Amino acid sequence: MQTILVAGGAGFIGSNLCERLLDKNYRLICIDNLITGNKKNIEDFIKNKNFTFLSADLIDPSFRNIKLPKIDYIFHLASPASPNKKSPISYINFPTETLLVNSVGTYNLLKIARKFNSKFLYASSSEVYGDPKVSPQREDYFGNVNSVGIRSVYDEGKRFGEAITMAYFRKFNTDTRIIRIFNTYGSNMRADDGRVISNFINQAISNKPLTVYGNGSQTRSICYIDDLLDGLIRAIFSDRTKGEVLNLGNPNEKTILDLANIIKKMTNSSSEIIFEPLPEDDPKVRRPDINKAKNLIGWTPKVSIDQGLAKTIQYFKSL
Ligand code: UDP
Repeated sequence: MQTILVAGGAGFIGSNLCERLLDKNYRLICIDNLITGNKKNIEDFIKNKNFTFLSADLIDPSFRNIKLPKIDYIFHLASPASPNKKSPISYINFPTETLLVNSVGTYNLLKIARKFNSKFLYASSSEVYGDPKVSPQREDYFGNVNSVGIRSVYDEGKRFGEAITMAYFRKFNTDTRIIRIFNTYGSNMRADDGRVISNFINQAISNKPLTVYGNGSQTRSICYIDDLLDGLIRAIFSDRTKGEVLNLGNPNEKTILDLANIIKKMTNSSSEIIFEPLPEDDPKVRRPDINKAKNLIGWTPKVSIDQGLAKTIQYFKSL
């Protein structure tokens, strides 16, 4: 039986990934320091004999001495990810942790990958494109990032993470791939994470005003978690992704105001839509070009926005 290490395994994407991989009969080691992840997301797996949870911090010096069995695959999904400073788990409130988990944390995991010859997947982000001047964003676009702006702890953290991942690939031939994840939503998102989908759904189902930041003309392209997992799994098990950078996301682009109206309608909500100030450096457009993922790993998202949102609304209602 092969062993997979999932760093950030108690978070939104990580915990969904753990569930999928356990179903595929792998031994899993889930590492999380639980600053933004949630133990509830993994409590169903704790009794599974193939699942081990290590409460550990990738950036703590003691992590380098951690004793691990042979690791065949590593997913590095550990990082705060919400830009909304009103959220208690926003990366704005964990600035050094965010920079360090993507730099020192990535370095520490790459050393493990090198030692065991593991296949390594670094979860980067569409944020490396910053406020893009070209759309859709293709992997060869260098981006437009403010290195000293409010979002830079995340953006530059991810850019460093990509750079050190490529350094290990080039210098040691480590079997790496970088995945730039675009906006993803679904079960196990935190209600308090301040992201647009979780905010709008929770506001709509409690008949509170939906808070659109700015005039709502900025766009995002949202991908349902099941589609993203399918892409992440294809990417790590494929030999064609070694040393590559791939976008994963759903190219179905919507304005934020459209998303507010769609969610209001789907929840039958009587909430009004109100407008609040646009956060600093908020990207005006975001849409992945996914041709590379289509060609290399045969991946395209399958879940429609209506299906994905319906499931996510159910999830938040059940909390
Ligand atoms: N947004 C919004 N209302 C909210 C939360 C977010 O209008 O209650 C906007 C935010 O300003 C951004 C977009 O929705 O333009 C997506 O924000 P999110 O925090 O989900 O992630 P981002 O894509 O900016 O990383």
